[in-house]
Amino acid sequence: MEGIRIGKIFGIPIEMHISFLLLIMLLFISGIIFGNLYIVFYILLLFFFVILHELSHSVVAIKFGVKIDRIILLPFGGVASMKDIPREPRKELRIAIAGPLVNFIVAFISLLILYAFGETDRLFPFFRISQTFEVFDIVATVFKINIILGVFNLFVPALPMDGGRVLRAVLAMKIGFLKATELSAGIAKSISIVMFIVGVLTLNIILILISFFVYIGAEQESKFIYISTLLSGLKVKDIMTTNVISVPKDMSLSELYAFMLKHRHMGYPVVDNGKVVGVVTFSDLSQVKREYWSKFKVEDIMSTRLITCSKDDEVLDALLKMNKENVGRLLVFENDKLIGIITRTDIIRAIEILRLGMV
Ligand code: ZN
Repeated sequence: MEGIRIGKIFGIPIEMHISFLLLIMLLFISGIIFGNLYIVFYILLLFFFVILHELSHSVVAIKFGVKIDRIILLPFGGVASMKDIPREPRKELRIAIAGPLVNFIVAFISLLILYAFGETDRLFPFFRISQTFEVFDIVATVFKINIILGVFNLFVPALPMDGGRVLRAVLAMKIGFLKATELSAGIAKSISIVMFIVGVLTLNIILILISFFVYIGAEQESKFIYISTLLSGLKVKDIMTTNVISVPKDMSLSELYAFMLKHRHMGYPVVDNGKVVGVVTFSDLSQVKREYWSKFKVEDIMSTRLITCSKDDEVLDALLKMNKENVGRLLVFENDKLIGIITRTDIIRAIEILRLGMV
């Protein structure tokens, strides 16, 4: 899932998901057009508490040594994208609860304030946006925002929402992490379908957006956990190709074509004087019209950025690196010498084979 970078807090990049951005823009513009500054103000308030919610997750996660890549803000909360989702249920449980807990604490304090000043009737009707900037109206809105964020995130047991993480952690204590993930992802998908239907019937765009997010999130997470479980412990050296076939940089593209046909790899390191200077792939070649193949050389189309790994790296990390860099292969170097190559196809085959051994 991709978002648009809006800033950094505690060194963690904060990104805004496109759905949230559109929603905010829509409300913002309509707020300004209709001269309703209250809406604009309360959106900013919502935004503030969504970030606070996510930071609460992150602080606990960091305490457990889990690295946070980035935080993606969604209309109803956010997702702290963790590099390794902790496999220990107790850790996941605490990280998941931290966000809603802070919302509940803020809500509780707001309620206390309203109660102490005899202003609790400002809370009703609950789903009305108050049209004043009076202090107690703002406090009442802070209560509403936080109680909604807390309840919605914690009590909908749908991965990747907090409630889904709590469910998975609790299940994992009984049936193990992998089975718990599969089961929770199945539950999350069913919930997302119900959300979608209700969203369509009630014309609730936010609910429809959330249903998509939950469905895709649950799918991605269960796939990721499955693959990372399969690949755990497997090193690059276990599956890399060691007899690397490379091409010289002054080879013509017609020659490269014949070479590819013969060796049937989709990418080759390019060498010059025994040194690797780039990588040329089938997709590089396919972008050049056939009539130019005799005029151009490998060095004209190769990419010179070498994306590498080490033979002792985990295969999972190699796969993540390929995804991040959007390449199909990594060069394996040891002491500045090319000793192998690992491709996405190698990894997919390994996954297929390992799958056979899974019960
Ligand atoms: Zn959360």
